[in-house]
Amino acid sequence: KPTNPTRIGLAGLAVMGQNLALNIAEKGFPISVYNRTTSKVDETVERAKLEGNLPLYGYHDPESFIQSIQKPRVVIMLVKAGAPVDQTIKTLSAYLEKGDCIIDGGNEWYENTERREKEVAELGLLYLGMGVSGGEEGARNGPSLMPGGSFEAYKYIEDIVLKVAAQVDSGPCVTYIGKGGSGNFVKMVHNGIEYGDMQLIAEAYDVLKSVGKLSNEELQSVFTEWNKGELLSFLIEITADIFGIKDDKGDGYLVDKVLDKTGMKGTGKWTIQQAAELSVPAPTIEASLDARFLSGLKEERVEAAKVFKSSDFVDLSADKAIDKQKLIDDVRKALYAAKICSYAQGMNLIRAKSIEKGWDLKLGELARIWKGGCIIRAIFLDRIKQAYDRNPGLANLLVDPEFAKEIIDRQSAWRRVVCLAINSGISTPGMSASLAYFDSYRRASLPANLVQAQRDYFGAHTYERVDIEGSYHTEWFKLA
Ligand code: NAP
Repeated sequence: KPTNPTRIGLAGLAVMGQNLALNIAEKGFPISVYNRTTSKVDETVERAKLEGNLPLYGYHDPESFIQSIQKPRVVIMLVKAGAPVDQTIKTLSAYLEKGDCIIDGGNEWYENTERREKEVAELGLLYLGMGVSGGEEGARNGPSLMPGGSFEAYKYIEDIVLKVAAQVDSGPCVTYIGKGGSGNFVKMVHNGIEYGDMQLIAEAYDVLKSVGKLSNEELQSVFTEWNKGELLSFLIEITADIFGIKDDKGDGYLVDKVLDKTGMKGTGKWTIQQAAELSVPAPTIEASLDARFLSGLKEERVEAAKVFKSSDFVDLSADKAIDKQKLIDDVRKALYAAKICSYAQGMNLIRAKSIEKGWDLKLGELARIWKGGCIIRAIFLDRIKQAYDRNPGLANLLVDPEFAKEIIDRQSAWRRVVCLAINSGISTPGMSASLAYFDSYRRASLPANLVQAQRDYFGAHTYERVDIEGSYHTEWFKLA
């Protein structure tokens, strides 16, 4: 046991907690750890020894855990979101004192954080909801951290998080996000954007594999090449790796043996629910979520594939010989352009919430702290930061002059890929949704005039005119 009180405590030693605790200890902050199931405490202590006699101390009961931390005490929780967080707060707060602070590092629904912040305030405790991104590896070696809530509490842990977070050329991947549940909200949208990125990459794979007939070896070299340019990112890098991994239980490549059913834990769904609540269009992220739902209907899809045999489809592209190199180039451009639209949606969702809640979130700063540590880390985020540096009030990333130029340069390729996919019977919901978003956003006039006329016809919902001010109603049926 330590001779002096430790600097910080961490409760919840599953994948994330264990690794974050080791990271904190490694950065020179003595840490106390606790877990409901005590075997995980011993496991973590053992790892701390093996990984360099790190200053990490394990406790089997919450009271001695809390007593071991220097005052005012700070405890990070990394337990399953929802009821386990409430239970853990109850357990810990029995021993905490006025001025101490609880930090929830889980993927929590932001309103739960706001409720808990108020509840623990009655006990004189401070509260932070801190999004942690980067999975196991990030937690251990440097995650992207999104702390929101009490600024006083943030200042108290600032020296720790600045060192523990991923370090990139533009600094540590952490900043005080804002008040209330803003840290959790931003982490949630980060995950929604991650859904979009993964879906767009999967579609690029599908077009190259199903239409371009690229082998796994070819796909690996394409993604490796892509990872040297504008698409350079963690997700492109791991995708290249995946294509090279052989099945250790049989012949061929492991990726071809993985069942085509995608799991999910809820942050993508929350992102879309929030987009709907705030009337923010987020079709690419929504298409990604729908793609996961559709992937889950594996048995139904297998039956449907018997009804709609591939021979029933006219493959308009079949008679045209595919120029592989051109297709690869087009798909790279389509992926990049579609990605700009997806980020534009996520950023605008964050801004809408920031306005609603008065959080005053800095979008450019968010792009900066996502540059390292997290799953969506990418060179592309520099461009987003620069766009908001140029104009913090930018209505949409699409109209930033640099992004606008990039989209214009890639739009023909993007349209060719989507058309090719449609004609080949391959779905590219993310790329298509991004294209529809772009094509709707860039048009001064949409067919919404007709929808509004219909609404006024059957429901007297009134309409505005393009030429004269005011609100109008017409008895359309009398004139018909
Ligand atoms: P997890 O599987 O979400 O949760 C397991 C932990 O929660 C264990 O320590 C478990 O304790 C504890 N727990 C569950 N129910 C409890 C209860 N009723 N009372 C007290 N403790 C309880 O762990 P995780 O994957 O490390 O994730 C932790 C948090 O980080 C989650 O919110 C997750 O969404 C978020 N997150 C995860 C990742 C990732 O890559 N895994 C990435 C970013 C964020 P016992 O050992 O006693 O069961």
